[in-house]
Amino acid sequence: MRREVSLEEISDGKLYRSNDLVKADCRGCEGCHACCTGMGQSILLDPMDAARLTAGLAVDFDTLLGGKLELNVVDGIVLPNVRMEGEGERCVFLDRDGRCSIHPYRPGLCRLFPLGRYYEEDGFSYFLQIHECPKKDRTKVKVKKWIDTPQTAQYENYICRWHFFLKALEEIAGNSQDEELVRNISLYVLKTFYRTPYHQMEDFYSQFERRLHGAEKLFGLA
Ligand code: SF4
Ligand code: SF4
Repeated sequence: MRREVSLEEISDGKLYRSNDLVKADCRGCEGCHACCTGMGQSILLDPMDAARLTAGLAVDFDTLLGGKLELNVVDGIVLPNVRMEGEGERCVFLDRDGRCSIHPYRPGLCRLFPLGRYYEEDGFSYFLQIHECPKKDRTKVKVKKWIDTPQTAQYENYICRWHFFLKALEEIAGNSQDEELVRNISLYVLKTFYRTPYHQMEDFYSQFERRLHGAEKLFGLA
């Protein structure tokens, strides 16, 4: 989900790379779960999240769509997000003690918080959101340690590939008057990148690249 705000308003004004130290470490969050409530539809899932969640919970993606996740239109394309529920708008994965019940396979955006991604023409940097996390005594941590995902370079490359692919599709959908085409783009994305299971015995990135290559050819983006 892209936000049209200036970086100066929401960050400490710095951009970070994966090897940089950033004041993001909330040291286990200690009873806080502010970023797991009231998040609306903003905890969007990418294909790796789908692979992690389905493997971690041992369910297929359609089962998750029937309960824990929901679909919403984001910049013209239908994408899945984690559902918030109840009066307190609590994430459906938050347990009674206010802890994440899926911590080992939580979505990439949850791993990132309170960092965000700032995309430029050919890649992205990280930035620290200064108004979102109430913990005042955060300590410094390396970005790549904070996001807690192995093979950082490969992961970042994947994040970029996915971002720019979605951006290209959003442009196609945005420029089209053909409602059926727009609907079919969303159905294709959901089926190809989320609903079709990822094999746990095969590297995620190879599977993603194969799917992306097919999609780029189909939409004339290769
Ligand atoms: S708002 Fe900050 S301290 Fe609270 S749960 Fe989120 S990351 Fe942890
Ligand atoms: S998935 Fe876990 S970390 Fe993410 S919002 Fe829900 S409870 Fe919080």
